[in-house]
Amino acid sequence: MHETTIAGRLLEQVTSICAANSLDGAVIIHLEVGVMSGVESRLLEIAFERLVSDTNLSGSGLAITKVPLTGACDHCDTTVEIRDFNFRCPHCREPLRVRTGEELRLVSITTTEGITP
Ligand SMILES: [Zn+2]
Repeated sequence: MHETTIAGRLLEQVTSICAANSLDGAVIIHLEVGVMSGVESRLLEIAFERLVSDTNLSGSGLAITKVPLTGACDHCDTTVEIRDFNFRCPHCREPLRVRTGEELRLVSITTTEGITP
């Protein structure tokens, strides 16, 4: 499963960041996931929660922000949201360059201290 591999890599990254900052216990990991990243957010959450439960960061979870697919036109210098896989500029019909929507980015890590469920 694709998402398990990504979750494993993410956990390694988060573990080293937490170790470097003396963070222990449950944290919230904020991610930006592009709609075209090929990652299914729900599957990534499930995979991550399963992997993290065996570590000292047990109980940690993901907070995923979905990033829309947008493209930039170099010809008329506009940025538009790409809909229905139409990768042409709506103004001048030139091909768009993808700007966002393909990323999987670790934005920040916050501790759950002080947050009551
Ligand atoms: Zn254009």
